Amino acid sequence: MKNILIIISDQLSKRAVGAYGNEDVKTPNIDSLAKQGIRFDNAYTTYPLCLPARAAFWTGTMPHNTWSVSNENRFKNGVVTEDVPSVGSLFSAAGYECIHFGKRHDNGALHGFNCIDVNGIKFEPIHPAYSLNYDSFNDEDTTRKSVNYLSQTHDKPFVMAVDIQNPHDICSWIGCFQGEHEDLTGPDKLPELLENYIVDFSQLPKSVQYSCCAHRRQQHASLWNDMNFRHYLAAYYHYVHMADDCIGRLLDALKASDSADDTLIVFMADHGDSMGSRKMVTKHTSFYEETTNVPMIFAGAGVSGQNQCFDELVSNTDLMPTLCELAGIDCPTNIYGKSLAPLLKGEKLKEGRTYVASEWMSEWGFTIEPGRMIRSKNFKYNHFLENSDEELYDLVNDPYEKINLAGDNNYADVLEEHRAMLDEHVALTADPFFYLAVKADDRWRNHAPGFHNHRGISAPDS
Ligand code: ZN
Repeated sequence: MKNILIIISDQLSKRAVGAYGNEDVKTPNIDSLAKQGIRFDNAYTTYPLCLPARAAFWTGTMPHNTWSVSNENRFKNGVVTEDVPSVGSLFSAAGYECIHFGKRHDNGALHGFNCIDVNGIKFEPIHPAYSLNYDSFNDEDTTRKSVNYLSQTHDKPFVMAVDIQNPHDICSWIGCFQGEHEDLTGPDKLPELLENYIVDFSQLPKSVQYSCCAHRRQQHASLWNDMNFRHYLAAYYHYVHMADDCIGRLLDALKASDSADDTLIVFMADHGDSMGSRKMVTKHTSFYEETTNVPMIFAGAGVSGQNQCFDELVSNTDLMPTLCELAGIDCPTNIYGKSLAPLLKGEKLKEGRTYVASEWMSEWGFTIEPGRMIRSKNFKYNHFLENSDEELYDLVNDPYEKINLAGDNNYADVLEEHRAMLDEHVALTADPFFYLAVKADDRWRNHAPGFHNHRGISAPDS
């Protein structure tokens, strides 16, 4: 392996990728990459939100370690300072040319990369039902510049990061269709709603039940009917297809270049999208599979194995230590990320995980709903400080997380085991979780439960 091409998609759920079993979406390029290499079935984001997730995986740390725990605005994040080891700093110090194209939202974690400016290129919608916004326009510029870079001759080995923004354009689409709509157009055959479109709402944590009050996209969707949600899913798959198309152009450019045979390709997402599960849209204050379980694929130079799928519990913060081990670069060991390099080389993992964690604090600071997720081999445990709410799901028998077992006496031992895992995780990662304050003003908790009961506005500018 000489070079590394890292492709990131923004807001892509594993559940929305053909290679992982979705038959309604079109992702031929991601699927063919998966066929060429190794995909991880249980890869999790450390935080289902852009900035914290990105600050985390570029540095191999948990978001709270660099205090990158919101998308900012009224919430004051810390800054990822230059002394925090990052993919960019470690590889540039080792003589690689580190270049970044596309969306950053990294809170400083891209230090060491030469970040190329993005200038959106406008173009007409491919389908009249799916409006285009800055995400898609930026992707066009990012793809063109990346293809141009790949076509050049390189004196030094490179680490090239391409941050594609789609399917994030679904957020603007939701904004265009606030409230119930009868006049939506779309494909002749709309995708079916997910199995967990309807769940018992009363069993969900209060912080999740009121995400309509904290998150304007959830407020926009609060009056949608079943058909509106099917159109949402169709639109989401459309933007996923657009992301896949950009990825295809990148992979074609790599294939045609001098670097074709000696480049490792990594594909992953920062976090997923709710996909209408529990009538939720985008991502906010929850840890369900749709928003936390992300695609993660390694292919090309340095990867031994084709069309293989591993079920180890991994974090997208494993990116940095994995790349370092493959390249023979020293990586700090006191970080959350762990190297997956042995699996990619056809060997056994030196140190596997018994559980993988994710966290939530706030989007913009108007409501603060600290939460933690512990995903073990068979279960998922979520703990929110507000109301001391807990969730426990049996992912083997209930993969769509429809039945919260936290109050079921038959699972009291499993619950205790997972509480202990959370205590251990908090201690091992110097996590202030249990000391954090909840901020959930009465104004954002005053309607009858149920998104359809939401009235008025959400927290300002959220
Ligand atoms: Zn509400």
